[in-house]
Amino acid sequence: MKRILIKGADVVTLDEAGTVLRNTDLLIEDKRIAQIGQLPPDTQADEIIDAAGKVVLPGFFNAHCHAPMTFERGWAEDLPFPRWLNEKIWVAESALMPDDVYWGAALAACEMIRSGTVAFNDHYFYMDRVAQVVLESGMKALLTWCTFGIGDDKEIGPGAATQLAFSRDWQGAGDGRIHTCLGPHSPYICPPEFLRQVVELAEQYQLPIHLHVAESQEQVVNAQARYGQTPVEQLAALGVFDHPTVAAHCLALTPDDRALLAEKPVTIARTPITYMKLAMPIHVSLTDLQAAGITRVALGSDGPASNAVMDMWDIVRQTVWLEKYQTQNPEAVPGDTALRMATRNGALAMGFAESGVLAAGMTADLMLVDMDRPHLRPRHDLIANLVHAARGADVTHVLVDGQWLMRDRQLLTLDEERILYEAEHRALRMVRQNMNQVREYRG
Ligand SMILES: [Zn+2]
Repeated sequence: MKRILIKGADVVTLDEAGTVLRNTDLLIEDKRIAQIGQLPPDTQADEIIDAAGKVVLPGFFNAHCHAPMTFERGWAEDLPFPRWLNEKIWVAESALMPDDVYWGAALAACEMIRSGTVAFNDHYFYMDRVAQVVLESGMKALLTWCTFGIGDDKEIGPGAATQLAFSRDWQGAGDGRIHTCLGPHSPYICPPEFLRQVVELAEQYQLPIHLHVAESQEQVVNAQARYGQTPVEQLAALGVFDHPTVAAHCLALTPDDRALLAEKPVTIARTPITYMKLAMPIHVSLTDLQAAGITRVALGSDGPASNAVMDMWDIVRQTVWLEKYQTQNPEAVPGDTALRMATRNGALAMGFAESGVLAAGMTADLMLVDMDRPHLRPRHDLIANLVHAARGADVTHVLVDGQWLMRDRQLLTLDEERILYEAEHRALRMVRQNMNQVREYRG
């Protein structure tokens, strides 16, 4: 049995009571946390980390992203959402090769590990290549092919069959680090008969679902005109929400939609930087969700084409600031609330029920943050410093299932130099190739 002893740390457990332990120890045995608390000075371990001046907290779970979209970082700027998709994003993706997806996801993995993310919920194409990155990097993930159900000529990969084959091949791979689900793009693109087929597969193979929902008021109005139902009502009627679902965004919800979501096993994943960067109105705030009894809210980076970074510290901070600003309520999203959304809530949504909290018996998926930094002093309030001031670059160590992915800022599982080279060179090639418009967003 391998034992790692982290000594003299401040431990932010994010347990239900919000326990923070100052200057204490954390013992890890193989994959799991064995003990938290002052241990005898002669405690033996294979590895002892002196964590004086550091905080240990659960690693982040990025609950909605398209990791290989690192290739489109800086490629589609200063455009409204329909033009952003139609003229830049979907056009560039038409030239995407499976190897590009591998290197794009590897670049994202370097960035995520460097900023304390241990797991990500990814929705993209050529997902076997993303799964390969998860295997090699040591991260955890919930993965799915993004499918449209609008014809093989208009999408990458032949629909539901691809999704299912991918799930069967990869479910539980990497010693349980890889989970899979079904990923219809959204109710505004996928035809109802396709969504019905997805629900049947979810039923038959007990798979969760990850999709985009109600990103704009326009989508709600169009769905009502087309189907006589809001997107949420439509998905509920089709049976989507009878399965564990991650519904990204949900920015435009009627009171009935909210009441319905509160009753279902649905986690709403919010990506605040995308909303600000693409100027997408937020009709339903986190405060509104909470008032409707919706407790399952997690945070994500979305794709780097709309978010620019995958650093969850930025996303935690922007979640809090955006909510306070938008609701004109400085008391909104207080204390460690956003940290919990970015850790435990994401872990539960992605099927990692033994992660997202530091406690004996939980899996050792955690990070160490160096608090001996000018922007993190003085320490009146450790949580406030973490939420409002910490950055990805302050993370020194990342552990997943008791394995180091980063130690003292050194990435241990990925060849970062090669990844930077390949990603740069392939992303530039992608946008020089024969791109074409394969489908059109109409809201
Ligand atoms: Zn998305």
